[in-house]
Amino acid sequence: MVSTAPFKTAKSQEIFSAAQNLMPGGVNSPVRAFKSVGGQPIVFDRVKGAYIWDVDGNQYIDYVGTWGPAICGHAHPEVLAALAAALEKGTSFGAPCYLENVLAEMVIQAVPSIEMVRFVNSGTEACMAVLRLMRAYTGRNKIIKFSGCYHGHADMFLVQAGSGVATLGLPDSPGVPKSATSDTLTAPYNDLEAVKALFAQNPGEIAGVILEPVVGNAGFITPDGGFLEGLREITRENDALLVFDEVMTGFRIAYGGAQAKFNVTPDLTTLGKVIGGGLPVGAYGGRRDIMEMIAPAGPVYQAGTLSGNPLAMTAGIKTLELLQRPGTYDELDRLTKKLIDGLLQVARDAGHAVYGGHISAMFGMFFHAGPISNFEDAKGADLEKFSRFHRGMLERGVYLAPSQFEAGFTSLAHTDADIDATIAAARDVLATL
Ligand code: PMP
Repeated sequence: MVSTAPFKTAKSQEIFSAAQNLMPGGVNSPVRAFKSVGGQPIVFDRVKGAYIWDVDGNQYIDYVGTWGPAICGHAHPEVLAALAAALEKGTSFGAPCYLENVLAEMVIQAVPSIEMVRFVNSGTEACMAVLRLMRAYTGRNKIIKFSGCYHGHADMFLVQAGSGVATLGLPDSPGVPKSATSDTLTAPYNDLEAVKALFAQNPGEIAGVILEPVVGNAGFITPDGGFLEGLREITRENDALLVFDEVMTGFRIAYGGAQAKFNVTPDLTTLGKVIGGGLPVGAYGGRRDIMEMIAPAGPVYQAGTLSGNPLAMTAGIKTLELLQRPGTYDELDRLTKKLIDGLLQVARDAGHAVYGGHISAMFGMFFHAGPISNFEDAKGADLEKFSRFHRGMLERGVYLAPSQFEAGFTSLAHTDADIDATIAAARDVLATL
């Protein structure tokens, strides 16, 4: 439920101002600093289910879900119990452990493209590794990405990237040499003709295409009918690889991810977030003949001290087990539809131009009349209005991602009462904008 206590920020202010002397911008990941929405960032203290509490004691209904992992709700009792038991056996072996087999089998069974998998510690790592593999397998260096898609913070992907890069208005980053991005070609999302043109201009040179099959890092943007199928065809015709970055969508928009939902099977897939159940995990996987190029099976080097550690594997296994229960994704879809339909309705009732939608437990709303089918469109949204909306919701006990260029996430812990309270809060705030 929405908390009725007065909104206080004194402790958040005190801790955050001290943090600014200790860590760049006071944070360990940029969007947390609330730069794009302005106002005092919140310092959190604890999480449970659909809720998050800050150091001043304010309670929020949480639609960030630690940026995706918390799909079963924060600190799920079964995940915590499994972790407590695993902890007794130690935190890291740096050697093979049976739990890796268990999670690998679950991932392979769930995700259509994945015949073999390698676990890493973040989505960034997964995307870096998959890029090396794409290049090694094809013997080509160029790749195509889409503007507004975010594939982690590795040099080669910091070209028209979404998420924090978009939020902060950094088209590129200093420190990324031109040589690192000169082989990264970009196209507008949902534009098959642009992709065809890039293949025509660079014959035999493009290793593959990587994309978020449903975009969450430029706000929530869905693929037009035929877009994913078209990419599958074009890549096949050009002997190039198709890679779905499902770090966000994997196990979120369907148990088998976007590829199961849209019935388009890429050659390789990256995962993260949900498969770690709130602990640091990423993964990449795909066709066996490609994956067998990874060391030590093959010559493509990639390694990690903490990769596949028993705690992360345990949280991932338990989270996927919870998601396998019957009706999970129907319930996530029902709740999320109720939320976004309600938000769009109260916004329109108050006279605001809005555009949005959802797929299962992922949603988004732009202050823009729409339609929005790529990053250029998304940049036309009323960012100033979003900032005021964000702050108003925060003050009424609803925590939304602090940027118009991020998707929202629901969880199995959200109730109808939470959704109703969120829509009621939005009605109040939207009347003041
Ligand atoms: N790819 C996608 C699609 C993402 O959404 C993210 C993170 N938001 C990443 C890659 C990078 O993952 P991480 O933050 O775990 O490095």
